Amino acid sequence: MSYFIDVILPLPLQKRFTYAVTKEEAGFLEEGMRVAVPFGKSKVYTAIAAKIHQNPPQVYDAKPINQILDRSPLVTKHQLKFWAWIASYYMCAEGDVLKAALPGAFLLESESIVQLIKDAEIDETQLKDEEYLVIEALQRQSSVKIQEVMKILDKKTVLPVLNALVEKGLVVLNQEIYEQYKPKKIRFVQLNPVYYNEAEMHQLLDDLEKAPKQKEALLSFFSIKAQHKKPLKVKELSEKSGVSAAIIKSLVKKKILEEYYEKTDRVTFKGESSEAGIQLSELQHKAFSEIKTGLQEQDVCLFHGITSSGKTEIYIKLIEKVIERGQQALYVLPEIALTTQLIERLRAYFGDKVLVYHSKYSVNERVEVYRHILEDSEKARIVIGARSSIFLPFVNLGLVVVDEEHETSFKQFDPAPRYHARDAAVVLANFFKAKTILGSATPSLESYFNAQHHKYALVELNRRYGNVLEPAIEIVDIKTKYKKKEMKGHFSDKMLAEIKETLNVGEQVILFQNRRGFSPVLECNTCGHSPQCPNCDVSLTYHSHNNQLRCHYCGYHIAMQKKCMACDSSEITTKGFGTEQIETELKSIFPDYKTARMDQDTTRGKYAYEKLITAFEQEEIDILIGTQMLTKGLDFRKVNLVGIMNADNLLNFPDFRAHERSFQLMLQVAGRAGRTKKRGKVLIQSYNPHHQIIQQVSMGDYAGMYKDQLEERYNYKYPPFYRLIRITLKCRDYSKTNEAADWLAIGMKNVFKENVLGPEFPPVARIRNEYYKNILLKIPQQQSLGKTKQVLQRIMESFKAIGTFRSVKVVINVDPI
Ligand code: ADP
Ligand code: ZN
Ligand code: ZN
Repeated sequence: MSYFIDVILPLPLQKRFTYAVTKEEAGFLEEGMRVAVPFGKSKVYTAIAAKIHQNPPQVYDAKPINQILDRSPLVTKHQLKFWAWIASYYMCAEGDVLKAALPGAFLLESESIVQLIKDAEIDETQLKDEEYLVIEALQRQSSVKIQEVMKILDKKTVLPVLNALVEKGLVVLNQEIYEQYKPKKIRFVQLNPVYYNEAEMHQLLDDLEKAPKQKEALLSFFSIKAQHKKPLKVKELSEKSGVSAAIIKSLVKKKILEEYYEKTDRVTFKGESSEAGIQLSELQHKAFSEIKTGLQEQDVCLFHGITSSGKTEIYIKLIEKVIERGQQALYVLPEIALTTQLIERLRAYFGDKVLVYHSKYSVNERVEVYRHILEDSEKARIVIGARSSIFLPFVNLGLVVVDEEHETSFKQFDPAPRYHARDAAVVLANFFKAKTILGSATPSLESYFNAQHHKYALVELNRRYGNVLEPAIEIVDIKTKYKKKEMKGHFSDKMLAEIKETLNVGEQVILFQNRRGFSPVLECNTCGHSPQCPNCDVSLTYHSHNNQLRCHYCGYHIAMQKKCMACDSSEITTKGFGTEQIETELKSIFPDYKTARMDQDTTRGKYAYEKLITAFEQEEIDILIGTQMLTKGLDFRKVNLVGIMNADNLLNFPDFRAHERSFQLMLQVAGRAGRTKKRGKVLIQSYNPHHQIIQQVSMGDYAGMYKDQLEERYNYKYPPFYRLIRITLKCRDYSKTNEAADWLAIGMKNVFKENVLGPEFPPVARIRNEYYKNILLKIPQQQSLGKTKQVLQRIMESFKAIGTFRSVKVVINVDPI
């Protein structure tokens, strides 16, 4: 009798591969264990055993495996089933899913590079001889290849040794090592409340006659506090009063001033929600009960709660119930919304039952989180993570929360698997017979449609926590303002007045400027030429801080030009404006206030994003200018004004979702205002103040927006009425791109008729010297999705068999965003 296993290799192969195993191996192996297998000419990969059987492959001789790498399965049956679903639904290889699903450290291969982890604590007595040899080699040289390890150990089967070292947290593979971000603590001082009493205060000042320096420091403290109400840093007090930090220290010692750290203070809700637990408000409690009832009948509940209604608190209560039953809970949210803020909130409540899974975390942390979940450990009751956390090895999942479910970043764009984490999460939950909650203040049309058609339960919460009113939204007609000369740069007089007023009372301002297609480009007034990227079909954008013209697609850049490159005229101007220009203007109008910018340029560095958020929380920044990054679920306490610099560009974006997206974006940024006690204010500057969407935003009219947009979607055959599959062809050769696209489109039109659109060049038709062309397939509701994909797959196979098209890359995107 011969034995075989089908394995999933971490490669984009259409099929599983079969290998031969011995009887003993077959007896030991379980589905989901890792095996090292030879593949290709001389490479060795880590693969996952997906099926153990006795049927030899038909068309090739099965090679034997190198060895078994696990004692027990690393991948669960649920995962294997889930991966297969993802691969089939999103039309990609299981190998693509495997690579997205497992932390890289689990997938040793012959090409892997091994490095020692900095600061790893090496206890030599805990190392086996072979492990010790590898560590010793790594202490001499910074990295070694697997091949070298084979030489060092004088054998071929080195993966188990390396795996053991990975598990011990001593080495990493192929990865940069991330350190975790810890916001620095800042010391602040406040007056000991004892001295709020006037008599005590007089007594104190008398007592301090003998310590003039201390008295001086105290008087400075009062005068600074009289000017603004912001928390006062020890450093600032020392600078402004001219007394040394030692003097301030002695005031603290005498218990006249008290020191505190912003880090503990910024978890403001700690004070608000008592240690005994969160007390839901009456309305929150109602929503909580409705969700529970809803989930008795349905598997999915859409929770439509306005910004700051306290959705997080309700999730916490629901999660609590699930873990009381001994189950695991998964809390998925967009990467950028996965802030220290939220993690601390959950940890404050659940303590060390919370694990975080984040691409920015180190390999070892990810491996550790993975293991804890697989072992169903006490530490892994609640997992918070970005979209890839749906791939974790849950064994006992009871609830999935997808927060900010409308976020388009839940859809992976590149590389495959191009999955939508929200939709996939619903499927995942179903495998476990678990429930899913989709939460948002501005639900996606698709989810709301499902709720309206009773596929999902629907719960709405229309009041902010603490009965704070929703921000008052006002629209500023900048067309008129320009005419009347009431604009200063890109700011209306109204906007400037509101900013000034907000800053005067010590509160903060957020300004939103969408960058998409809106950065300044250079244009010649004489001939109209604007400098283009040589590799992509886009204009270069102007960056003032380094005086460069840059391409946002490929990074190409040249120095800023003084003359037109086409006609030599020096009459050139920058057109359009981005966040950078807004910041420059602000700095000259409000020189005394601190401004900062949050966009792709300023958040590129390690932790740059977290640092900006912390600085803003700690009120080191008065005005924060940013792109859509700002919209993601941030909870700032002192923001009372939000300004949207220009609403029109969002609305004019050529995409069937542009209006829905604009509504969501504007309402989400608006939601950053006035989250505590006072009602916040939002100003929207626009050339089209009567635009339907802007009106709907100003009234928070989700229902109106939904109705209008749904009608459009119906008329133009878009989701949720039709499903979409987008096929993108890419090639360096222009005419080949066209030819291939035409061939494919004709093949598709033969079957799907008028439901095939294109081929068409996208708005940016060339990126990094590759031409792009799209074909869109629309699938009516009554047409079987599975069959459609089968037919499409067959057409793709004929396409791939054509030799001349070999250089054309094809990307299939199911449910593109
Ligand atoms: P959402 O996610 O709906 O925008 P949050 O959950 O962030 O809203 O809540 C907004 C603010 O109100 C947070 O600072 C939160 O701590 C506070 N909050 C909400 N509900 C409660 C509650 N029941 N008890 C105490 N604080 C609450
Ligand atoms: Zn010119
Ligand atoms: Zn370019």
